[in-house]
Amino acid sequence: AIACYRARNPGSAEMLERARQVLPGGNTRSSLWANPFPLCIASGQGCHIRDVDGNDYVDMLGEFTAGIFGHSSPVLAEAIATAHARGINLSSHTPYEVELAERLCARFPSLERLRFANSGTEANLMALMAARLVTKRDRIVVFRGGYHGGVLTFGDGVSPVDVPFDYACLPYNDIAAAEAEFAQSGARIAAVLVEPMQGAGGCVPGDPAFLAALRRLSEAHGAILIFDEVQTARMSVGGAQARLGIIPDMTTLGKIFGGGLAFGAFGGRAEIMDRFDPARADALPHAGTFNNNSLTMAAGVAAIDHYLGAEALEALFQRGEDLQRRLTAVFAETGLPFAVTGMGAIMNLHARSGEGAATDRKLLSLLHFRMQERGYYFAARGLIALSLPVGENEIRGFLTAIEQGLQA
Ligand code: PMP
Repeated sequence: AIACYRARNPGSAEMLERARQVLPGGNTRSSLWANPFPLCIASGQGCHIRDVDGNDYVDMLGEFTAGIFGHSSPVLAEAIATAHARGINLSSHTPYEVELAERLCARFPSLERLRFANSGTEANLMALMAARLVTKRDRIVVFRGGYHGGVLTFGDGVSPVDVPFDYACLPYNDIAAAEAEFAQSGARIAAVLVEPMQGAGGCVPGDPAFLAALRRLSEAHGAILIFDEVQTARMSVGGAQARLGIIPDMTTLGKIFGGGLAFGAFGGRAEIMDRFDPARADALPHAGTFNNNSLTMAAGVAAIDHYLGAEALEALFQRGEDLQRRLTAVFAETGLPFAVTGMGAIMNLHARSGEGAATDRKLLSLLHFRMQERGYYFAARGLIALSLPVGENEIRGFLTAIEQGLQA
């Protein structure tokens, strides 16, 4: 099978060899690695992508959730071209940043004010910094399996680097553990940083009772509750927080609101965020050359106005729920140890014999390989994120390919 793969993908193999000379392992984004070697994608149109060898795939990954619009959207292309024609890198404020900020504050119940950054990682770093400075406390509570950005590593036992501040990394969806942490260290906790659904951790939905407990505990102890909605923002116009009816003190955003371009934002209640007002004597610092870059701001505005309305997001959510149900039925029929977890149109395939059992990476990797052979592209770790152009035809084809892939 590997020989077949090589024969089918000579261009990808060759590009990887070239890349290895200048990028470690030919890679600049660790999550893109896949066995036996990753594909080099040359172009995309709607929910279809084509690799450098001319092989076509249905894109079931949607840029790890950021590419919700599908590829080569004429609406986004026009917004970006118009902004560019007006001149970019203008060294000052522009109307675009106000327009995007107004739209985001109107959408998210927790956002009275926000600031822009260039990635979700940066947004989380800034939110944590703000929480620690505003509360004058040091400790951060995060959760096992959480992901908040490439440089935010909380003693996962895998990464040799660790964040340079005090933190507790607790089991996710465990109310008792959170209560115990607050009982012991409540007066030292600056912030609780949590994903309403753990994305990179395998699409594990947050138990509403657990998230509500975090809301209650943070409030009782004067800690700032931060929802990392970098992935879950698509769950409704107001993100997962609006869907759940649980409103954090701060929210971090990324991915979709840059209209496909590099993006991050953090915000929250005015009394917290106004500490960033540069006219204040005690202003907190936050800079960044590209924070308000016109291309991202304009693309974000167009994305919201044309793609991210309530109806479109709800239809996408339901399409994802439907796919999860149908996948579960296929897995049950075959009797093979596969499962799917997720929320709406963001989901993860797992190869494991039961809930809580360890993932069989080799088995999952085999299914990924068999699906790629059949023209369906998703992350090697099992992540699937439907984009808006994925329709019933693609879903049906995908399910048939899954059945065949499982048999293979
Ligand atoms: N938080 C979450 C929940 C994410 O999924 C990601 C990216 N996968 C990040 C933060 C980091 O965002 P970025 O990659 O834009 O730095």
